[in-house]
Amino acid sequence: MAIQRTLSIIKPDATRRNLTGMINDRFEKRGLRIVAQKRIRLTEAQAQRFYEVHAERSFYRGLVAFMTSGPIVVQVLEGENAVVLNREVMGATNPADAAPGTIRKDFAESTEANSVHGSDSLENAAQEIAFFFSTIEICP
Ligand code: GDP
Repeated sequence: MAIQRTLSIIKPDATRRNLTGMINDRFEKRGLRIVAQKRIRLTEAQAQRFYEVHAERSFYRGLVAFMTSGPIVVQVLEGENAVVLNREVMGATNPADAAPGTIRKDFAESTEANSVHGSDSLENAAQEIAFFFSTIEICP
């Protein structure tokens, strides 16, 4: 299995409840290394661009409003099979469907306010990492 990088976002519902450390602990305990991390506040234009793929969905406007409602922590996670491993650590989009012990099961407030984002493919991971980080900000 190859070493991969994936983009993770700790969402505003989680930063508001001061859960950054608890969530990072889940990543590190499962062997994901945080090789870049910064706390930022997205502008509306940035959130719209990041979630452009969902522009036609009914939840798009609400999602953009939610993602700009407070600080987020964007991070690059590195490890064996990091893309799929992070999706496992996160759990299903809707916390009601998430497996026990996952971040979303334990911390998410709703399908929208579900505490974390994680890239869903290696190709998207590369694009999403480049959206937030320059090469010199990533320190393996
Ligand atoms: P993810 O890859 O598990 O984050 O899920 P998606 O890529 O399908 O959706 C992106 C984000 O949009 C999710 O993490 C949620 O924050 C939000 N979202 C997805 N589906 C719904 C929905 O049916 N209703 C609402 N309100 N938000 C949703």
